[in-house]
Amino acid sequence: GGDGGGGVLEGLDPDQRAAAGVAEGPLLIVAGPGTGKTRTVTYRIAHAVLERGVPAGECLAITFTRRAADEMAERLRGLVGAEADDVTVATFHSWGMWLLRSYRSRLGLPGEFEVADAARQESVLTEVLGDQRSARRWQAELSRFRRGGLAGDDAEVAEVAQGYVTALRSRGLVDYDDLIVLSVWLLENDPEVAAECRRRFRWITVDEYQDVDELQYRLLWVLAPADANVTVIGDPDQAIYGFRGADVGFFLRFERDYPTAPVVHLGRNYRSGRNIVAGALSAIAPETLVTDRVLVPERSDSAHRVGMHEAADERAEAAYVARTAEQLLGGASFHAMDSGRVDGDGHGGIGFSDIAVLYRTDAQSRAVVNELSRCGLPVQKRSHDPLVARAGVQELVQELTYASSAGSAAVIDRVHTAAEAIVERSGSGGYEQRSAEIYRAVEVVSPLARRFGTDVQGFCREVALGAEVDTLDPRADAISVLTLHAAKGLEFPVVFIVGCEDGVLPLWWPGSEVDPAELAEERRLFFVGMTRAQERLYLTWARRRNQRDRKASRFLSDVDPGVVAREEAPRRRGPRSTQLSLM
Ligand code: ATP
Ligand code: MG
Repeated sequence: GGDGGGGVLEGLDPDQRAAAGVAEGPLLIVAGPGTGKTRTVTYRIAHAVLERGVPAGECLAITFTRRAADEMAERLRGLVGAEADDVTVATFHSWGMWLLRSYRSRLGLPGEFEVADAARQESVLTEVLGDQRSARRWQAELSRFRRGGLAGDDAEVAEVAQGYVTALRSRGLVDYDDLIVLSVWLLENDPEVAAECRRRFRWITVDEYQDVDELQYRLLWVLAPADANVTVIGDPDQAIYGFRGADVGFFLRFERDYPTAPVVHLGRNYRSGRNIVAGALSAIAPETLVTDRVLVPERSDSAHRVGMHEAADERAEAAYVARTAEQLLGGASFHAMDSGRVDGDGHGGIGFSDIAVLYRTDAQSRAVVNELSRCGLPVQKRSHDPLVARAGVQELVQELTYASSAGSAAVIDRVHTAAEAIVERSGSGGYEQRSAEIYRAVEVVSPLARRFGTDVQGFCREVALGAEVDTLDPRADAISVLTLHAAKGLEFPVVFIVGCEDGVLPLWWPGSEVDPAELAEERRLFFVGMTRAQERLYLTWARRRNQRDRKASRFLSDVDPGVVAREEAPRRRGPRSTQLSLM
C-alpha cells in the first residue's frame, strides 16, 4: 500500500506505512498503547518533507507535553536533517504563546508581557476581591469558567472574571489559561489572523488527541477546517485529563466533523511483553471505550508475568520496590559501577534509567523516594503539575529576572548564583530545609537551563509554560519516580505501580460518593500506567496507608489471573541485612 514504499517509511510496518503515506486531507489514527502512533506521525511528517515536497516551515506538530515535543523534534532531526528545525513542534500552550507574541498588538498586549504564575494570580485576585482566602477558592473556579467556554452564563463568576482579567492586563500579565483563551478569541474573531495562520501551517498533526478540551478543539477547528491536512492520533482508552476539562467526546466526534477522513487502526503492540499486553487489556475491558480492540503483542519473546505484591504498609511497599530494583540491577555488585548498568537480564543489563515507579498522587512519592535514596539508588522525581507550582522554582525565576541585566553567563550558572543568593538571604532559621528546597528546584530546572545557553528570558518563559515532567531527562542515570499522569506517552523496561488500593487507585475522597465517570477515568489511568512497561511490570499495594486499613484495588482483580505472578519480598543478602540491623 502507501506511496510505493521505500524511503523514510521503511522504519514502519505496512499498516503504519499506509497511515503515514495517506496523501492529503484529514486523517484519524486510533490505536492502542505502544502501537507506534507517535512513531507513525513523526515519520508521516518526515515523509511529507522529504518525499512530498512539503516545506518544513508549514508543518505544525502538537504534542501533549514539552518533553514529548522535544523528543519528536529530535526524532525528526534524525530522519530529516537540519531542515527539521523549521517544523514547529509545540504544545497547545506553547503554540498559543507564539501566537500571542506574534499578534500582541491586535490583542492590546504590551511588548514584553509575562505569564503570571499561581502566586501572582493570587495576588491579583486578592486585589480584585479584597481578601486572600476567597482568592484561593476562586482561582480554580475562574479557570474552569474561562476554559469551559468564552461566554459563561453565571453572572457573579463572569463579573469576577472580568475584574480579574482587567487587573491582570493592567500589570502586563496573561495567565496560563489566557494562552489558549486569547488564542481562540483571536482566531475566531480576526479572520485575517486566522487566514494567515492557515496559510502558514498547512500540515498539522495532533498527538494524544483523546485529551483535548473544548478550547483546544475550537483552536484546532479554526486552524484546520474540515478539508485541511490535519492528522489526529489517539486512544480513547488513554483519556486521563477529564479532571482538567479534557473531553474524549471531541476525539470520538472527529469522524463527524471531518467526514472525508480515513480512519486507520494500528493493532500491533511493539512495546510490551505478551503478558503485560494481556494483563492491561483485561484491566481496561470492563469499561473500554473502544469496540473490537485488537492489540497483538509483537514482542512475543518477552514473557515475564505481571508481578503483584501485597505489603503490610507504605514503608514495606517502598522497601519491596527498592529491593526488587536492586535485584534487577544486579544486586550489591552494581554499587561498585559508576553507570549502574550491569549485565542483569541477559539482554544487555538494566540501568537506573530503565526503571520507573508510578503512583496516583504526588504525596505517595515521599516513601518511595526516601527508601530508594536510603538504598543509594538515584532518582528523578517529577509530577504533571506546573513547574512554577514547585516550591522554590518561582523564587529562582524571580531572582533571575531581577538580576537579568548582570552579565551574559551559560543560564545554568546564573541559576546556581540565584540559588545561592536566595539561600544566603534566608538566614539561619529553617536554613537547611530552605536550601534543600531551593536545590531540589535547581535540580528540576537544570535540564532546561542547560538548553537555553545565555537566553535567560527564553528560559523564564519556558519555565512559566512547563510541567515538572517536561524536565525529565531520559538520559539521566536515575530511576524515574512519576505520577501516572506524568508517565503518559513514555515507556520503561521496568515499571512499578505502587498504591494499587481502593481509594488510592482508583482515587476517591473518604466518605464521598464515587462518580462512575471519574471511576472510569481512574481505570484508564491504571491502563496507561500498565502499558508503560516493556519487560517487567509490578503492581503493589499496602494493607495500611496513612493510618487507614486498605483493600486491594478493584482493578487488580480485573487483571487476568493467568498472566499474574504473586511476588514475595526478595530477601536481602547477608552484608546488606547486617547493615540494616545496625541502623
Ligand atoms: P502510546 O499510546 O503509549 O502513546 P504509541 O502508540 O504512541 O504509544 P510509540 O511510542 O510510537 O507508540 O511506539 C511504542 C514503541 O514501539 C516505541 O519504542 C517505538 O519505537 C516502537 N515501535 C513502534 N512501531 C515500530 C515498528 N514498526 N518497528 C519497530 N519498533 C516500533
Ligand atoms: Mg504516543
